[in-house]
Amino acid sequence: MRPVVADKVTITFLGGLNEIGRNCAAIEQGGQIVLLDCGIMFPDLDMLGIDLVLPDFTWLREQGDKVVGCVLSHGHEDHTGGLAFLLRDLSFPIYGSALTLGLAKNRIEEAGLLKRTELIPVTDGERKKIGPFEIEFIPVTHSVPHGFATAWHTSQGVILHSGDFKIDLTPVDMRLTDLALIGAIAKDEGIRLLLSDSTNADEHGHSHSETTIGSTLYNLFHQYEGRRIITTCFASHIHRIQQIADAAISFDRTVATMGLSMKKNVRMAREMGLLKIPDNKLLDIDDVGDLDPAKVCVISTGSQGEPMSALALLAANENRRLSLHENDVIIMSSHPIPGNEANVSKVIDGLVRAGAEVVHSGIAEVHASGHAKQEELKTLLSIARPDYFTPVHGEYRHLVSHAKLARRMGVTDEHVQVCEDGDQLVLKDKGIDHKQKVVPAGYLYVDGVVGGVGDAVLRDRKVLAEEGVVVVIVAIDATTGAVINGPEVITRGWVYAPEAEDLIDQCAEAVREAVENRPGHDTTDIEAVARVVRKTAGKFVSAHTKRRPMIVPVVMEA
Ligand SMILES: [Zn+2]
Ligand SMILES: [Zn+2]
Repeated sequence: MRPVVADKVTITFLGGLNEIGRNCAAIEQGGQIVLLDCGIMFPDLDMLGIDLVLPDFTWLREQGDKVVGCVLSHGHEDHTGGLAFLLRDLSFPIYGSALTLGLAKNRIEEAGLLKRTELIPVTDGERKKIGPFEIEFIPVTHSVPHGFATAWHTSQGVILHSGDFKIDLTPVDMRLTDLALIGAIAKDEGIRLLLSDSTNADEHGHSHSETTIGSTLYNLFHQYEGRRIITTCFASHIHRIQQIADAAISFDRTVATMGLSMKKNVRMAREMGLLKIPDNKLLDIDDVGDLDPAKVCVISTGSQGEPMSALALLAANENRRLSLHENDVIIMSSHPIPGNEANVSKVIDGLVRAGAEVVHSGIAEVHASGHAKQEELKTLLSIARPDYFTPVHGEYRHLVSHAKLARRMGVTDEHVQVCEDGDQLVLKDKGIDHKQKVVPAGYLYVDGVVGGVGDAVLRDRKVLAEEGVVVVIVAIDATTGAVINGPEVITRGWVYAPEAEDLIDQCAEAVREAVENRPGHDTTDIEAVARVVRKTAGKFVSAHTKRRPMIVPVVMEA
């Protein structure tokens, strides 16, 4: 029985509800906040020069000491990568499975912030008091081992977060999504609100079992016996690595890791007993030496075409450790995540140009998604039978598709709430309020060191990249306002200056005329002169070339 007037519970969505990436939510009760994931997003191609994208932490920073912990659903960077930035401002313990914490630790350690947190491992089925909540950690199957759904026992009933999950009845480690435990919670206490992974809500049917990939790999290794095989997959996809290694070893090959994160993760997963490769069958690429190429299987990073990855360097013939041979076979056991298609296809092109044969997910079943498709999402809905439903982890269209599924599965129409980043859900004794756009939740761009790059800077970069820049320098007399030097026109990317001297001279002349004849031509207001310069140069450039470069007026007093 809940008390007569229970504390309300507020969920603030800071990321992941409009994009695949930067998943982060804050759950608050009685003045204490526990975070649910804190991830990054990889930039789109049009985010020029951006390394990664964070949730906007402005609101969280204002909460300060209220943040008492962070629960990690699993070890992917779109759920953990933001901690290396947030921990600069806030300090709190982090909870997750041992593997999740091991994967998350890398970035935090690189940022020198390990001292600002405590990593607290939790185990399958454990129920732990964290801040104001009792949180239950429910095993789920995903494309990284040891992920969790979490059941948050709050003063407003149970909130179930699915985590990233699929329902795979034959996963590599036979650690199944624990539907029985979810069913028991649904039966005993009931689930007030379900937050569920929407990544594949647009896809009909059922995702393939991870073990089906194992047989495809086995067949490929059989088909390509006698040739060197180079494979690539996510470095955190331990089960995929296991299946590649199994196939390789059954054809008497030695496995060689290539790329730093592959080497690190393989070592960690073996230490934890999650990856089984015998010592005498495992090498690093540096130690392969003169092993017969037909007896080696390389497992490389770079499955997403990341420009500096081992595989991209190999494709560009710039990899110091390995070069391609005519007879090589490359197996890309992955699928490009949205935004990476162009990079991936560039890498494939380079590999093919070098004479290698490339097997990718368009050619053979060498990849299975780690996210539930419609039939699996329906299964979870039917077992959890939530009173309220909010789709999470997806672009807007995924969230809307998932909301439709929930309604079809019997969740009352007005109990299905599609939220976006910056929205809040307030759970009260009487219903759930959906408040829209209450906290800042725009993109925080990271270029080198955090911050300093906003939407305005990105817009400038886009103009510079697409249209170039025209700088117009003019000096005016500090007392009379008359032009005493210039205008001088300098450009990069508008026209090729050595061949466009006339045009550039004409532009300078047009600016001189406009400045000399400006209304109040004897004023020394630099801002006013700059406006005239920008307007005139802009008009001239557009009229003569139909281009719109960035115009930068530089007005000096002399
Ligand atoms: Zn994931
Ligand atoms: Zn995810």
